[in-house]
Amino acid sequence: MARSGSGSVAVIGAGVAGCATAAQLRRAGFDGRISLWETGRGPGGRASTRRSRGDGALAIDHGAPLLNIRSERPPELLEPLLEGGWITPWSGLMALLEGESRLHIGRPDVLGIGQLYRGADGMDGLCRGLLQLGASGAQPAAEAHYGTLIRSLECASSGSWLLRDRQGELQGEADWLVLSSTLLAHPRSCLLFEWPEVPLVRAAASLGDLQLDHALTTIAGIRAEARSNLLLLFPPEDALPWSSLPFSLVNFDPAAQQRWGLRRISIQPLPDGRCAVVAHSSDAFAADHLDVYGSHSAVARLLDLPVDAGREEDVIQALARAVMECLAPWIDDLTLERASPQLMRWAAAFPVAPGLPPSLRLCPLSRVGFCGDYLDGEGFGRIEGALHSAEQLAASLLQAGLT
Ligand SMILES: Cc1cc2nc3c(=O)[nH]c(=O)nc-3n(C[C@H](O)[C@H](O)[C@H](O)COP(=O)(O)OP(=O)(O)OC[C@H]3O[C@@H](n4cnc5c(N)ncnc54)[C@H](O)[C@@H]3O)c2cc1C
Repeated sequence: MARSGSGSVAVIGAGVAGCATAAQLRRAGFDGRISLWETGRGPGGRASTRRSRGDGALAIDHGAPLLNIRSERPPELLEPLLEGGWITPWSGLMALLEGESRLHIGRPDVLGIGQLYRGADGMDGLCRGLLQLGASGAQPAAEAHYGTLIRSLECASSGSWLLRDRQGELQGEADWLVLSSTLLAHPRSCLLFEWPEVPLVRAAASLGDLQLDHALTTIAGIRAEARSNLLLLFPPEDALPWSSLPFSLVNFDPAAQQRWGLRRISIQPLPDGRCAVVAHSSDAFAADHLDVYGSHSAVARLLDLPVDAGREEDVIQALARAVMECLAPWIDDLTLERASPQLMRWAAAFPVAPGLPPSLRLCPLSRVGFCGDYLDGEGFGRIEGALHSAEQLAASLLQAGLT
């Protein structure tokens, strides 16, 4: 089954890791076909920005609001991203809320240690930048297919990987398959989509690749923390109390998380005077409300799920109340009346260690590679880890004979 010198790659997922894999392969001189498959409307994944066709100024980072680089050897892609103006140093003020309401200005949590950066024009700039770094003139880094959920995988007798959508239509074919998300390899896909089998497990059953089987068993054991995020958008007349706060990102210590059900509040002033505020729930709060997706979430849209508006409203109200009460000592006259609250649920926001060990990153026999923040190593569970994993996978793919 193993072939060398095969020249096309299908990357599932256009989050940081998927885009970085394409970029790094191109930077290393790979000129074969790269196709990129993403169920969302554009690149970004958990580091994406909510935008609106009818409201050009709207940009809300509803997942990661920043990235922190802690390793002694930063990802190689960092410098070109900075030079290209795709990311910029994060210059906000961080605070830590301890217990009931003790606020420590300037004290970071684990996601705030090291060099801090953000997407220059929203966090999705990071992925757009990665794809641009891999482009050559008018030739894009990858053929990107947005709005396409890959539903099933099959390794044909020729050795090619076949990618199909939910209707069973053949969408793509490639020599190498890269999964930048665990979705097609993890039992949560069966729970989420009511699929009878995990797609890659099904495909692997006939391949006899023990390394791939080992990788799949390990991935099945990776748990993830969830987040229910409340998005608020304040009109200019209500924005001042927010932009005057002595912090733009407040993290909650474990006691404060338990007290308020919140993990973080990110304040994002918009250039037109409005202010977006994103409150990230604690893992425990999200776990208690996992079945409430939020009518604007990709999952609800994708699966055409019936939304229980009453339950959604309850979750929104609970999070909004927590935001108002915990910030009451620092903000007067807080009104949410005109704040257009929305809910965004991240079922798998942060993988929980241990992740997939580097020895299982590439399975050359079946030509399957894994990258993403679920790979063990520096930056695990963060954007930094997604970048490192992609760079390492790109190197392994080229070493294994991708030409
Ligand atoms: C609320 C929140 C706050 C965070 N805060 C921080 C922070 O402050 N700092 C930090 O460093 N990190 C933070 N993170 C984590 C960070 O966002 C992730 O580590 C990083 O974005 C992971 O990138 P990735 O490419 O590995 O995965 P993802 O971003 O999940 O990308 C995988 C992509 O694959 C797509 N996909 C999956 N399966 C399929 C399929 N079958 N067909 C088509 N497409 C598919 C998904 O739609 C997704 O876009 C945060 C995450 C969340 C949710």
